[in-house]
Amino acid sequence: MKPKPTDPGSLLLSAIRAHMELGTTEVIVERRKRTTSGTKSTTIVAESPVMAAIPPSLDMIELPEIQKRQFKSLGDHCEAINKCQLCELGATRNKFVYGVGNPQAKLMFIGEAPGAEEDRRGEPFVGRAGQLLDQILLAIKFTRQDIYIANILKCRPPNNRDPLPEEMNKCTPYLNEQIRIIEPKLICLLGRIAAQALLKTSTPLGKLRGHWHEHNGVPVLVTYHPAALLRFPAYKKETWEDVQKLRARYDELG
Ligand code: SF4
Repeated sequence: MKPKPTDPGSLLLSAIRAHMELGTTEVIVERRKRTTSGTKSTTIVAESPVMAAIPPSLDMIELPEIQKRQFKSLGDHCEAINKCQLCELGATRNKFVYGVGNPQAKLMFIGEAPGAEEDRRGEPFVGRAGQLLDQILLAIKFTRQDIYIANILKCRPPNNRDPLPEEMNKCTPYLNEQIRIIEPKLICLLGRIAAQALLKTSTPLGKLRGHWHEHNGVPVLVTYHPAALLRFPAYKKETWEDVQKLRARYDELG
């Protein structure tokens, strides 16, 4: 029999799914049971099987020539790499999704990879998650013209599966060149995949978010991916706290 969405088993399953999405390793679910003497509450703690696949250090990888070159502008760089076939996603993409925004932005947002709509239009964060990101930006008084948005991967993984470590290894040098050209003063990483890949860590997202880290000398704040907020609206409160922190640090830049 199909379980009711409110039964404890379903609640536990959905909590595990939620925490897998968010990269935490511990799941806590409260189970409430009605009895003749009132409502009893017990807590279930379970281990999520999440452990992200972390790409090895890029220092250990021999880069292709195109990734050793330094470019004068984002346009030159995009022009040079937009036919890339370094990993198998080059064969399945519809459009190469380089990045969008202000080439002199002080603040960069970085997600994990293009989705279906991004792959169709060649622009990052243009689906439902992108619309939510626009609302978040607006709430902290930014527009897309103020910032720059990119992803770890430039091509869409089929069926929106997680990027594979070898795909991230091959694509991250492109992102690093974008960062080198833009010279942002702050970076905001959206979601577990982007955070773990760029910070080279397997620390769960729940522990990374809301804190300042560093990538090549640039202060980095981690928060939830807007797509996760669409599935788990309860995380909007923490995201709001994170982006206010981001705005305050941005304002300190002068
Ligand atoms: S995902 Fe990155 S490395 Fe793979 S083909 Fe696309 S641009 Fe090249």
